[in-house]
Amino acid sequence: MARSVVVTGSTSGIGLGIARAFAAEGANVVINGFGNGQEIEAARAELEKLGGGTVLYHSADMTKPDEIEDLIRTAEQSFGTVDVLVNNAGIQHVAKIEEFPVEKWDQLIAILLSSAFHTMRNTIPLMKKAGKGRIINVASAHGLVASPFKSAYVAAKHGVLGLTKSAALELAEFGITVNAICPGYVLTPLVEKQIPATARERGISEEAVKTDVMLRLQATKQFVSIDEVAQTAIFLASDAARQITGTHISIDGGWTAQ
Ligand code: NAD
Repeated sequence: MARSVVVTGSTSGIGLGIARAFAAEGANVVINGFGNGQEIEAARAELEKLGGGTVLYHSADMTKPDEIEDLIRTAEQSFGTVDVLVNNAGIQHVAKIEEFPVEKWDQLIAILLSSAFHTMRNTIPLMKKAGKGRIINVASAHGLVASPFKSAYVAAKHGVLGLTKSAALELAEFGITVNAICPGYVLTPLVEKQIPATARERGISEEAVKTDVMLRLQATKQFVSIDEVAQTAIFLASDAARQITGTHISIDGGWTAQ
């Protein structure tokens, strides 16, 4: 039977790539996120053609626990359960701590960290009932190391790794694995948007942000591709990964080796 997969924040970037990879394997997928309605529908229809599974869109806002609950309920009602949960939705804000807008801090923590708690608390009973499940949290190299001006993002991503480990221990005997993926810089809309802000904060050109800030620590001097992250999610959801739990896989071109 086709697996049931929920990917938060999958109307763009890494999440869309992960949803595409699962859809191509024939999974039933719920995609989620913001954007233009026609573009989302086009993406949904394109994914559905890939592997023969059903692909649904749910508009849950990851800052709203009741909408997150409805997202998981929709997956359960449509596909019977949730086999794979991918917590991926994210935004970024770059500013000095003393100038960091309080509402931005709250929004980043809600979307990047608390939403994973809410998806998990609604999904775990379904996975326990099924006696199996895979939870994959898209964290970041910033879950392991810090950069200046990204306090909320770094704090939330470090939190995601803590949540990953705690959940893995709670769920280890129920056939459910919980892991994180820690990408370095991937050229997605999220990264494109922070280039001007980082250039402003550091007083350097936008090109210098790419080469001297983003790729400075990526030893390969290359951006990570969306598909490389997506295929890691496919691996973590495979049978071969059944003893991998409570840990992370870095895909950061050697950044965190330094
Ligand atoms: P992106 O901007 O391309 O996609 C983000 C997705 O999250 C979109 O679908 C957007 O609509 C959705 N989203 C934003 N706010 C939401 C909300 N309140 N409710 C529901 N959905 C919401 O960004 P991306 O680069 O693909 O990032 C995806 C994840 O990967 C994020 O968690 C990010 O932190 C992480 N990540 C990205 C990079 C990178 O270099 N791009 C590196 C490491 C980790």
